[in-house]
Amino acid sequence: MSEQKTAAQLLQEYAGPPVRIMEVCGTHTHEIFRLGIRKLLPKQVDLISGPGCPVCVTPVGFIDEAVWLALEKGVTITTFGDLVRVPGTKKSLAAARAEGGKIQVVYSPLDAVDYAEKHPEEQVTFLSVGFETTTPASCLAVEQAQKRGLKNFSLLTANKTMPNAYKALKGSADVFLYPGHVHAITGTAMLEQMAKEGVSGVLAGFTAKELVTALAVAVTRFERGESFFVNAYPRVVKPEGTPDAVALTEKLMEPCDNEWRGLGVIPGSGVRLRAEYAEFDARKKFDMPHIEGHPNPACRCGEVLQGKCKPSDCPVFGKACNPQHPVGACMVSGEGACSAFYQYGGSLL
Ligand code: SF4
Repeated sequence: MSEQKTAAQLLQEYAGPPVRIMEVCGTHTHEIFRLGIRKLLPKQVDLISGPGCPVCVTPVGFIDEAVWLALEKGVTITTFGDLVRVPGTKKSLAAARAEGGKIQVVYSPLDAVDYAEKHPEEQVTFLSVGFETTTPASCLAVEQAQKRGLKNFSLLTANKTMPNAYKALKGSADVFLYPGHVHAITGTAMLEQMAKEGVSGVLAGFTAKELVTALAVAVTRFERGESFFVNAYPRVVKPEGTPDAVALTEKLMEPCDNEWRGLGVIPGSGVRLRAEYAEFDARKKFDMPHIEGHPNPACRCGEVLQGKCKPSDCPVFGKACNPQHPVGACMVSGEGACSAFYQYGGSLL
C-alpha cells in the first residue's frame, strides 16, 4: 500500500518550477507568518503580499476627507482603531484628535449608530472601509439609523469589491490565495470563470491546517501546468455565497469606480450609497469638495500591495517606519504586510 503524504510534506518536498503565490488577504499574510508556515516552504515557492488589507488599500485622500469632516465640519468620526493612525497627506486622525477633532473608536458600524442615537447633538460619521465581507454591516447600520429616525448619522464610504481588482492584478502572481471570508459572501462563480481565463487560485481558510493544505494544493496543481481553481475552504465557502448579504448590499449601494492605494482608480471596483440614501452619505450631506491625497514619497506601500516589492525592500522599513511611527498604512494595520514583516522578522526569512 502506498504511503499517503501529508499536505505539509507535499509542500516541503515540492521540487517543481518556481512559483509565486500571492496572499490576496492580509490576514493570510499574518497567519502564515505567525504559524511559522514560511519556514516550511522550499526555495522555489515565493509568497508575495497582495492588496487584501482594507486599511492598507484605503487611499490617503480618504483619510484627508475624514480629517476635513472632523476639523472643518466638527463631525464626530467613528471608526475602527487601525484607521486612526494611518497618515493622511498632512495629518492622521490621531493628529486631528490632538487638534480638537472628535474621533471615536467603535467595534462595529452598529456601535456607531448607537453612539449617534445617544448623542443627538453631534453629527456622527462612520468610516466605512473594507470588502464584500464588511459592507453588509455598514448597510445594516444605515437601515437601523433610518428605522430609528436618526438625522445625525452618515457613512464616509471607501467600500471595495474584489472582482475588478483581481482583473487588475492579473499576471502579478502565478497562483492567488483567495480570501475565504470575501467569497463566503460572494460565492465562487467568478473564481471558476477566472480559472477558465487562465488565472489560477486556491480559496483558503485561516487555520494552520487550512493554510498548509491550500498551499500544498497550489503548488501541486501549479506543477501540472494547467490553470485551476480549488475551493480549499468548503466548510465556510459555498458556491452560492450568502445571497442575503449580497442582496442587502445591492439594495443600499451601487457599483462605482474606486481608488486603491497603489493600484490607482479601478473602474467598477467599489460601491457607494444609492441616491435614495443620500442623507446618509457624508460627502453629499456635508457638501464635501474634491480632496486629493498625496502619499509620502518615501513610502512603497503601493508596490508592496501589488507584490512588486517586499516590505523589507523599502528603504525606511524598520528605520523611519515602524509600528510606533508608521510612515505608510501597511505598517499600521494589523493585516498590513509591512507590519507582519516587522513583527515576525520577515526580512530574515
Ligand atoms: S515600510 Fe513603511 S514606508 Fe515602507 S512601504 Fe511599508 S508602510 Fe510604507
